[in-house]
Amino acid sequence: MDQTEQTKLAQLELALHYLVSVLEEGSLVERYDKETRESLADVLRLLVEKVNDLPLNVPDNLVQATAVRSIIGASEQANMAEMASRREQLERRQREVEASASIQGHLLGDWEQVKGSDMEFQATCQVCGGFVYVSDNSVYNLLLDICQRL
Ligand SMILES: [Zn+2]
Repeated sequence: MDQTEQTKLAQLELALHYLVSVLEEGSLVERYDKETRESLADVLRLLVEKVNDLPLNVPDNLVQATAVRSIIGASEQANMAEMASRREQLERRQREVEASASIQGHLLGDWEQVKGSDMEFQATCQVCGGFVYVSDNSVYNLLLDICQRL
């Protein structure tokens, strides 16, 4: 690679890094919503990493494949972040339900996962048999206001 090529490459990389930070910060690109900006920034950041990791003299199709792998990688990261935030919501709701159930005198057993969903749990009161159902975005509380043994 000659001097000009190396300079161009360094400039391109610098511009890409700057583009990523502009996308993340957002004030220059208000017409894109936050999620789109973050997705684009993730893809570009991964693209720079993956191109840097490429051995010299790889065929063009493998270079092109880094673009696809960057898109897939960014989407996996986004899914994982979304799952983590849903799980956080779910756990927060469980803690809230536990606190209010305890104030009402209920003695909740362990949270049991509802079959077929990883974000839905239910717990049963060991005293009255009432139960409460919690997911990351809903709560169905079928516990009585005061726990009473049936
Ligand atoms: Zn109870």
